[in-house]
Amino acid sequence: MSIEGKKCAFCGKEFTPSKYRPNQTACPAPECQRQRQIQNIKEWRSKHKGDLDPDVKEARKQKYREWRSKHQEYLKLYKESRRDEYRTYMRDYMKKYRKKKAGGTEEAAAGQP
Ligand SMILES: [Zn+2]
Repeated sequence: MSIEGKKCAFCGKEFTPSKYRPNQTACPAPECQRQRQIQNIKEWRSKHKGDLDPDVKEARKQKYREWRSKHQEYLKLYKESRRDEYRTYMRDYMKKYRKKKAGGTEEAAAGQP
């Protein structure tokens, strides 16, 4: 029975990887474990840095533009339906506003310079 030795990626010493984690790259030395953790964080960041990477941002914008051009008709209908809703809302709002103003409160003018 031979022990399958592996070389530590950080200190270069041979070590026996845990049978539960045969892919581990660092020996059990605390310093090497710490280095491995730092590397893990770096790798995770490079995978998840999408928001900081201008290329990815641009690619996302491009994707959105493509999506939008495909769904333009849908967006148009959506906007129109929203516009009607908004109009109704504003009409009601203005009605209430005028009523309030007519009620004699000077609140609306108070904020003016
Ligand atoms: Zn090591």
